[in-house]
Amino acid sequence: MIENKRLAGNAQVSVQNVQNPLSRLAPSASNRGFSTMFSTGSADSRVLGSQTVTRERILIVEDEPDIAEVLRYNLEKEGFRVEIAGRGETGLETARHEPIPDLILLDLMLPGMDGLEVMRALKRETTTARVPIVMITARGEEVDRIVGLELGADDYVSKPFSPREVVLRVKAVLRRRLPEAEVPAGERLEVGEIRLDIAGHRLWVEGQEIPLTATEFRLLRLLIERGGRVQTRGQLLSDVWGYAEDIDSRTVDTHIRRLRRKLGAEAERIETVIGVGYRLRPEDAEAIPGSGPRPA
Ligand code: CA
Repeated sequence: MIENKRLAGNAQVSVQNVQNPLSRLAPSASNRGFSTMFSTGSADSRVLGSQTVTRERILIVEDEPDIAEVLRYNLEKEGFRVEIAGRGETGLETARHEPIPDLILLDLMLPGMDGLEVMRALKRETTTARVPIVMITARGEEVDRIVGLELGADDYVSKPFSPREVVLRVKAVLRRRLPEAEVPAGERLEVGEIRLDIAGHRLWVEGQEIPLTATEFRLLRLLIERGGRVQTRGQLLSDVWGYAEDIDSRTVDTHIRRLRRKLGAEAERIETVIGVGYRLRPEDAEAIPGSGPRPA
């Protein structure tokens, strides 16, 4: 185990040397491309045999050193490069600097600047707005968790958690963010006043561009592509979030709510099918009575 860790560490150093000058030239989007490229390189298998090694950078913002170290150990074992910040301010500072992290594990309860403030700041800045965030929450922080999801967090884990669960969540979120394979530039999905640029991950509603997180994009794309067909929460959790089982369907509801808000005049196109799930109404279909977004 120790031997493996040391080898993994060496491999990471050499890749980092290659990657740094590139990522300085190219901001976050292509930086992602490079991490993806390196994550499946054959050098990995030469060093570590069959073990899968990824190169993504994870920033952990967590003030409890024991928890941070357990997470670091488990993530590094999976080949991630890990940085730890013990305070919100330092976390924000680290996140802003190249290379921008591929994912941030963000504790909500932090001394000084708390997790939600950090998230607001991250989402305000163009360099960090698209970095996926997995919140670390504690019992009694349900409200903060919902606020966090509304602010644009992709997922959360609750303390006490198993490190294995965290690693699975991290991997699922990163998988969602991978560039779409074989999508020709300029390919679009359109329904009503909604226009989705697949390759560019961009949304326009009534001609106005609306920023989307990676998860919102996948959710909307899937709903449009399966237009008219009702998707259960379980289906959405599996196809959008990559979860094998129904972990927490409120995650789906929160994201749908946020997506509807972003769709503005087209919000009612996402219909709630009571007791089943959601569907996106195609242009030629009648609305299901009482299926629109309920007043908040
Ligand atoms: Ca804490």
